[in-house]
Amino acid sequence: VAVVVHGGSETTFGYDRLVIATGARCKRPVSVPSAQSPGVFCLRTMEDGFAIEAHIRDKKPVSVLIVGGGYVGVEMADALARRGMSVTLCGRGVLGTIDPSLGEIVIEELGRHDVHVINASVTGVTGQSDDLGVSLSDGGIEKAEMVLFAAGVEPSTELSRGAGANFGESGAIAVSRGMETSVAGIYAAGDCAETWHRLLERSVYLPLGTSSHKQGRIAGENAAGGAAEYQGTLGTQVVKVFDLAVARTGLSDREASDEGYAPLTVEVSCPDCAGYYPGSHQMRFRLTADSRTGQLLGAQIVGDWRAQVAKRVDVLATAIHHRMRVQDLEHLDLSYTPPLGTPWDPVQVAAHSWMKA
Ligand SMILES: Cc1cc2nc3c(=O)[nH]c(=O)nc-3n(C[C@H](O)[C@H](O)[C@H](O)COP(=O)(O)OP(=O)(O)OC[C@H]3O[C@@H](n4cnc5c(N)ncnc54)[C@H](O)[C@@H]3O)c2cc1C
Repeated sequence: VAVVVHGGSETTFGYDRLVIATGARCKRPVSVPSAQSPGVFCLRTMEDGFAIEAHIRDKKPVSVLIVGGGYVGVEMADALARRGMSVTLCGRGVLGTIDPSLGEIVIEELGRHDVHVINASVTGVTGQSDDLGVSLSDGGIEKAEMVLFAAGVEPSTELSRGAGANFGESGAIAVSRGMETSVAGIYAAGDCAETWHRLLERSVYLPLGTSSHKQGRIAGENAAGGAAEYQGTLGTQVVKVFDLAVARTGLSDREASDEGYAPLTVEVSCPDCAGYYPGSHQMRFRLTADSRTGQLLGAQIVGDWRAQVAKRVDVLATAIHHRMRVQDLEHLDLSYTPPLGTPWDPVQVAAHSWMKA
C-alpha cells in the first residue's frame, strides 16, 4: 500500500505494481544550525535554485564558497563567477572522475577565471549571516557571504525501506536488470536505485540523468507487464566549465586495473579541427584499453567547449558498449570538414597512438 501525504492528510492507495522513483538528496557533510542556514544552500531541486536566485537578488553577496569540486560544484563556480561573485571552490580535488593530468587543465581554467581552489575537506560552518564561513581540515577558516554545498548525493530510500526492499552496498535500492526490487511487483529507478554497469557486470551507484531516464522507462514497461532489461551504464558524462568541455566514459586506468584488466592508457593532444582553420584548439585525450586484447575500456577528453568533445566521447561510449577493440576504431567512417574536424578524427588519432604504444 502506498501512502501519499497532501498537506498533512493521508490518502491510501492500493496497487498491483509500484514504481519507486524518489531520487536522491544532497549530502551535507557537516550539520548546519538554523541560525547559519539563511546563507547556506544545496542545489538539488528547482526550489533550491529559486532560493539561491532570490538570495543573490535580495542580499547581493559578493563572495561564495562552494563545498565540493564535482560537476555541480564546477558548474556553479562557472555560473556564479559569471555573475561577478568572488568564488572559492573547496574540496578533495576537482572533478575526481577524471585523472589528475586532465584535472590540472580544469584547475588552470578555474584559475584563469579567478576561481580560488582549496584542496581540503570542510569540517564545519562557522559564524552566521555577515560573518559566515567554513572551517577546514587543515585548521584554516574561509569566510564567504554565501556557502553552497555540492558534495554529492545520497539516495532517498525511506519509502522502499518501508516496503521491505533490499539495498546494495552503496545504500541505494538493489534492483534486477528489469528494475525490480527484492519485493516482487515493486520496481525502482533513477537516483534512488543502483545501476547495472556494462563493463563491470555488477551494480554500482552512478546517479545520472541519462541512466535515470532509461531505467524509468524499463521500470514502467515491466510494471505494465513487459520484460525489458537495462543494458547498463558506462558512466558517460560531459560537463562545461567556462571555456572547456570535460567528458569521460567507461573505466579509468586505475579502475580497469582494480577489475583485473591489463590496461594500457595513452594521453595525446590533437587539434579539434583542421590546424589551419581559425579557432582550432588542442584537445587532450586519455584512451584506455586492455593491452592483451585491445578491448576499449575508457576515455577521458578535455577540450574547448565548442570542439565537439561530447561527440567524441559518445563515439567511444558506443564503441565500448559494443565491446569494440582499439584497432577497430581506425576503420570507422567518421565525418570530416575543416571547421569541425580532421581527416583522422581525434578519436582515431588517439587510437593510433594507443596502437603504437
Ligand atoms: C544541478 C544538477 C545538475 C545535473 N546535471 C546533470 C547532467 O548534466 N547530466 C546528467 O546526466 N545528470 C545530471 N544531473 C543528475 C540528474 O538530475 C538526476 O540523475 C536525475 O534528476 C534523477 O532523476 P530521478 O527521477 O531519479 O530523481 P529526481 O529528479 O530527484 O526526482 C525524484 C522526485 O521524487 C520526489 N520524492 C522523493 N521522495 C518522495 C516521496 N516520499 N513521495 C513523493 N515524492 C517523493 C522528489 O521530490 C523528486 O521530485 C544533475 C543534477 C543536479 C542536481
